[in-house]
Amino acid sequence: MAEKLPLIQRLCIIGVGLIGGSLARALREAGEVGEVIGCGRGEANLQTAVRLGVIDRYHLDPARAVAGADVVVIAVPLGAIEPVLRTIVPHLAATAIITDVGSAKSSVVADVARVYGQIPPNFVPGHPIAGTENSGVEAAFATLFQRRRVILTPLAETAAAAHDLIKRMWELTGAEVVDMGVHHHDAVLAATSHLPHLLAYTLVDTLARLDDRAEIFRYAAGGFRDFTRIASSDPTMWRDICVANREQLLEMIALFNADLAQLAEAIRDDDHAAILATFQRAKRARDNLYLE
Ligand code: NAP
Repeated sequence: MAEKLPLIQRLCIIGVGLIGGSLARALREAGEVGEVIGCGRGEANLQTAVRLGVIDRYHLDPARAVAGADVVVIAVPLGAIEPVLRTIVPHLAATAIITDVGSAKSSVVADVARVYGQIPPNFVPGHPIAGTENSGVEAAFATLFQRRRVILTPLAETAAAAHDLIKRMWELTGAEVVDMGVHHHDAVLAATSHLPHLLAYTLVDTLARLDDRAEIFRYAAGGFRDFTRIASSDPTMWRDICVANREQLLEMIALFNADLAQLAEAIRDDDHAAILATFQRAKRARDNLYLE
């Protein structure tokens, strides 16, 4: 009996870090990838990726890495997507399907349009709503996407076959795949992910610059640790996200600033009712969150 072919014969992952590495691991565990080629800037991370069995081999030159790949996943920080695209596009197989995992989507679509001069049918923008504060291939694990959502933001130009394949790829990792418009994605993520990261970074930065910071951090308890865990995330990645989702993020910051100022006002005015009302509303909302 003929052996069943894997969904992807040759997968090229550009940026074999937490997300790219976890995707490769999950597809390998599912037995749905023939060969995985890695690509990155530095050899050390890629050598580790080979040693850990995440990829089969690697090229530092993206043009060589994508040769003959049927699926190319771009999993680098948002600011590196356009230069990566410029390098690989002339070397892609005619039938290759390209996707990305970037945390903002309008900027990626703009990058793609600039590089191709149009939106190509074989590019499927994507974003797995899963992650940790750790980076690099050593942080990657096969179950990262299980029971998580992956958002695809296909465009009018996106070919149905390309969309179906990327959808199937993510489903094989255990994720639920949903489609969303590009701008809606960026608005939702500005509120649920980008603003919280920004708040965590700012809080830690503010406290870390106080004269008695050593004393303050010595007494940091569970609440502080929970709230600020995400401030350990990669700064370059988050710089790029802020730049890429500028308008939506600025709107959320303005909204948050106004609410924080109102709370400060209530505290200044000794307005117990207003303070309590804010906390009660927040607790109700938090307790009713549909967090799986
Ligand atoms: P990561 O662990 O730091 O991995 C990124 C990889 O990209 C690294 O292995 C790095 O390897 C490579 N890289 C960085 N700059 C590059 C460049 N200019 N050219 C080629 N390779 C480059 O980061 P990650 O968490 O996987 O994030 C990757 C992407 O996923 C980002 O776009 C991020 O927005 C998105 N994302 C992240 C999360 C999360 O929670 N972490 C969740 C969803 C989506 P070298 O240093 O060896 O080049």
